[in-house]
Amino acid sequence: MGLVPATGRKNRVRQTSCKQCGICCTKGGAALHGEDLFLLREGLIPRQDLITIRKGEFAHNPRTDRVQPTKVEIVKLRGTGTEWTCCYYDPLTRGCSIYEKRPLACKTLKCWDPEESLALVETDLLSRLDILEEDEPLQELVRAHNSTCSLPDFVSLSRALEEDTEQTVADLEASVNTDLSFRNKAVEDSEVVLREELFLLGRPLFQLLQPFGLHVFQEGNCLRLQWKRNT
Ligand code: SF4
Ligand code: SF4
Repeated sequence: MGLVPATGRKNRVRQTSCKQCGICCTKGGAALHGEDLFLLREGLIPRQDLITIRKGEFAHNPRTDRVQPTKVEIVKLRGTGTEWTCCYYDPLTRGCSIYEKRPLACKTLKCWDPEESLALVETDLLSRLDILEEDEPLQELVRAHNSTCSLPDFVSLSRALEEDTEQTVADLEASVNTDLSFRNKAVEDSEVVLREELFLLGRPLFQLLQPFGLHVFQEGNCLRLQWKRNT
């Protein structure tokens, strides 16, 4: 439900209702909006089934149909394993296992008539701090991670790697290891963080760097990076 499928765009004239093909559910779980807050607060969708795309990460923007840096934080339903297919999608039945309590973006999507769902993109999105209760100590964890482990400027990263490879890789290595240490400590200290890491802290920085040609390997207790120019 993260994408408006290309097939849907092409079939817009002929199609008038959902064929229940499930393609939209294999393109990424739905982003959550203000109207979905009760699903989380009432435990109908557990936080361990969420993933956070932090502001500035590259993600597919359905409005432009391009991969672009996000202007705001996005919390969405996580994928299955390493795939983006929504964790609530059942491939056997090609159905949704939480159909009655699916988020707004899923209820709104008509791939053959995408205007309504495109209007939702980056609008009234829920952030981690919206979802966590105001008095929850995990609010502080999220804030501390944001300030200790800020993301690099992904827009200028490729150019920086070209222009000053050694220094840029060294800076990124330091950031990757700071992020990893923060996570390890947080996970050791709390079983909740262990379960909800992808929601609370988003994806580890080293994973976000791989599309830029940065390969990661372990040396002792540290992660090292090696850059291979994308061709
Ligand atoms: S909205 Fe219905 S027809 Fe369109 S991609 Fe999703 S499941 Fe298939
Ligand atoms: S919640 Fe259901 S309808 Fe929405 S993307 Fe996941 S499987 Fe599809």
